[in-house]
Amino acid sequence: MTTALPRRLAQLTVPTATCLVAVAAVPLLEPEGRLVTLSALALLALAAGRIMSLAATTEVERLRQEKATLEQVVRLTGDGIVLLGSDGRVRLWNRAMERLMGVPSGGAVGRRYDDLLAGSDSSGASATLDRLLAGVGPDSPYASAEVQLTTNDGPGHWVCCDHSLQFEDGAWTADVVTVHDVTRLREIERAKADFVAAVSHELRTPITPIKGYVELLRAKGESMSEELRQDVLRTVAERTSHMARLIEDLLLVSRISSEGPGAVVLALQLELVDLVEETRRAAADYLRDPTRQVSLEPPAEPLEISADPLRLSQIVMNLLSNAHKYSPPDAPIRLRLWREDGWAKVAVIDQGRGIPEEEMQRIFNKFHRVEDPMTMTASGTGLGLYIARELARAMGGEVDASSSPQGGSTFTVRLPLARQAANVASS
Ligand code: ADP
Repeated sequence: MTTALPRRLAQLTVPTATCLVAVAAVPLLEPEGRLVTLSALALLALAAGRIMSLAATTEVERLRQEKATLEQVVRLTGDGIVLLGSDGRVRLWNRAMERLMGVPSGGAVGRRYDDLLAGSDSSGASATLDRLLAGVGPDSPYASAEVQLTTNDGPGHWVCCDHSLQFEDGAWTADVVTVHDVTRLREIERAKADFVAAVSHELRTPITPIKGYVELLRAKGESMSEELRQDVLRTVAERTSHMARLIEDLLLVSRISSEGPGAVVLALQLELVDLVEETRRAAADYLRDPTRQVSLEPPAEPLEISADPLRLSQIVMNLLSNAHKYSPPDAPIRLRLWREDGWAKVAVIDQGRGIPEEEMQRIFNKFHRVEDPMTMTASGTGLGLYIARELARAMGGEVDASSSPQGGSTFTVRLPLARQAANVASS
């Protein structure tokens, strides 16, 4: 019993061992067998001690594992997490923060919150920790701010910092800050606001002359010369078509957004057409107008493609109207057509204001305008290029742009030549 007992006991839990010690102590009160009971008690006490130390080791191991798990969660989570001490200095800076800010944990720990995260809020004021936490207390230990951080390259990301504080005896002792990058959300918000401003402007602009001319016809129509009346009616018709086109564009964009680009493909009415002829037709008004310097440079051979003529003319007209809108009135615009590697291509080349390098990626985004909607030197909705590209893609092609500020822009549409399209279809 004396050798097997401790080993057996070592497998028991702490409460069980304590009970055993208590039970073994009872015979101490009995005069007989006192020696046996005492030695059993000593053994039991030894075993209990060992069990306790084993249990303590297990508890330490469990805590160690829990700590490692928590550290892993904090390190790997997609949200930025910062822990601040009561001195406003960083105690912990997780991996998402390193990514978001480009500052390694070693470079952030120990630094003041204000040096790292106090950007400027929407009003332009600096969101320092003192300002942010001015209203917090044990009853409402939360604060939040959206700020734009400043990097060495100038204004950077917009981030939302949510503070959650721990209070002891009325003073805060720790502040856990979760940080989200909200740059994209703010861009969408801005684009939405710009879009509403642009669409309102676009719809209001033609309404004023339409209303004015209709009033004029009602009041003085009888006494007007036929020529003048036709002129007024032509202007009303033009402005109405502009509004109708705008509404068409909005409906098309909303369809693409809800049903995906496939919706455009299904709605296409494809025919074999000559890109040169279709371009000539779409640009007819511009080519005819002697005040505009638009020239067509066709190749010797027709460029036969499978396309929806209406949609094709919409693409060309969008690009041509942009070239005109964003160039001085008398600047020449070229329409160059050619074939290349199985593609039929048409380039709209202007000598206008050009597009800044950093905007090139975004001009094809829905609602994006380089124009400032407040100054609005040229009207528009930011939908033309998006629609042109979606339509070209639906017909198996693409629209690309190249530009240099002040050096003019070139927008090139490419569509598969009919023979090429047939090869692709049969392969
Ligand atoms: P909109 O012309 O209605 O604003 P678009 O989608 O057609 O919308 O064009 C997006 C932006 O791209 C325009 O706001 C303009 O700043 C720029 N852009 C397009 N075409 C040209 C061009 N030919 N020259 C200079 N900038 C252009």
